[in-house]
Amino acid sequence: MKYELFRSHRRSILIQIAPTGAVVVKAPTLLPKFLIDQFVESKKEWIEKKVAVTQKFPLKIKHAIEDGDIYYYLGNPYVVTIDLGRQITLDKGKLHYPKHLLFRGKVELTNWYVKEAKRIITERVNFYANAMNTAYKNITYSDTSSKWGSCAPNNALQFNWRLVMAPILVLDYVVVHELSHTKEKNHGPKFWKIVAAYKPAYKQYIKWLKTNSNKLQIV
Ligand SMILES: [Zn+2]
Repeated sequence: MKYELFRSHRRSILIQIAPTGAVVVKAPTLLPKFLIDQFVESKKEWIEKKVAVTQKFPLKIKHAIEDGDIYYYLGNPYVVTIDLGRQITLDKGKLHYPKHLLFRGKVELTNWYVKEAKRIITERVNFYANAMNTAYKNITYSDTSSKWGSCAPNNALQFNWRLVMAPILVLDYVVVHELSHTKEKNHGPKFWKIVAAYKPAYKQYIKWLKTNSNKLQIV
């Protein structure tokens, strides 16, 4: 199986599928190549499934922002309009992108999404923590496209900032899911009962995340 290998001071092997369908493998600096090959081979089925999804929804790879590009925010598409504004703003289906920030391309847009994600997700977590009568340690944000959230044993929460591109109902589901882990660490029937108490249609949101993750990318 063909893959791009990146070695670093990490402890384990991580396989990621780029939106282009490229297989990216991150591995510890000194781990022998044949062990990496073996590991990748053992995950073949999973990899092929993921690659098939990206091929179903091909994405153009580019780093420049252009008029007419479409980005999602809380589940709605916004069409990029480059203008002379000071900052990125959303208005009536348009994402106004300042001309003076064009040289920063996707970096500026990503920063903006991360800022929005922090604002909205923090607010939703606090709302649901209160409603569910539970508490969490803190919130951090991740940048992996394969995982939407997590709850550590000490109840530290982590969310993928890309969730801010998903409909609020889906975002709320991930928030409720992780907060439910402050009460139940596993994914047993008791856990899903807690989730269902606050998000009765949770199965629908899980399905949405599975089939729409291509919408939650800035490529
Ligand atoms: Zn979980």
